[in-house]
Amino acid sequence: MKIASNRICDIERFAYAELEGIYPQEEIRGFLRLLFEEYLGWDLTTWLLSKQKTINQSDLLKINFAIKDLKRHRPIQHILGKANFRGMSLAVNENVLIPRPETEGIVELAKDKCRSPKRILDLCTGSGCIALALAKFFPDAEITAVDISEKALGVARQNAWNQGVGIKFMQADILSDDLAELPLFDLIVSNPPYVREQEKADMQPNVLDYEPHLALFVPDNDPLLFYRRIVQIARKHLVPNGLLIVEINENLGEETAAIISTNGFEISLHNDFKGKTRFVVGKNS
Ligand code: GLN
Repeated sequence: MKIASNRICDIERFAYAELEGIYPQEEIRGFLRLLFEEYLGWDLTTWLLSKQKTINQSDLLKINFAIKDLKRHRPIQHILGKANFRGMSLAVNENVLIPRPETEGIVELAKDKCRSPKRILDLCTGSGCIALALAKFFPDAEITAVDISEKALGVARQNAWNQGVGIKFMQADILSDDLAELPLFDLIVSNPPYVREQEKADMQPNVLDYEPHLALFVPDNDPLLFYRRIVQIARKHLVPNGLLIVEINENLGEETAAIISTNGFEISLHNDFKGKTRFVVGKNS
């Protein structure tokens, strides 16, 4: 199908025709809003008042490409090159997980449970979203963020620069590298990979085909390998009474909590905004 004209109402008709059955109507409307905002600089009101306006050929081409990409399940955040996290517009690409709204819960928990931490460590930082949000909330904290992927760290560094925030970035494989040089921290946070290979069947192509599997998946026979390691690191590098806050697989809440509590942490489980078991907070003894 082709777009009938350069008129906004025809572009909209085209978008709904191309994308219906793949996304709900409301989501298609949301995409259009973001595309008009990005490519035309229009807010919602301008869009609603401009249905009969025409746009130039170059903008039309961009919107056409974006709709074709959406049809191939490419995430809108990749098309726009950015995602929102706690009010920040962060650069994202195929090398980092797109920040999920539920992950904001880690930041909320840190705000609730931590009094002005001096040093914070973020393991598996990806786009840097958690570290950056914590840097905004605790401006006096010294923050270290670790990731295995140099490409991910490139994105995180760019985000820190754009947000005007100083974070110490470090490349390391937390599973095998010796992190002995790290100092003591008041707070350690992490959203490590936790989706089991067997759970792939329930996932959408926009995630499976475009997001880094390195950041998502863990083996079926050892799904909690990251938490075992994180808890060891936390034992060594948290001050007494320091806090560990991790995002977890909602289907493995009890098992993950058990790993953390048997290592001497006083733990609590917390839900995300969808009511799913999503976080463990552990207080060091
Ligand atoms: N919650 C993410 C998803 O379902 C996974 C995040 C993670 O593995 N840390 O896509």
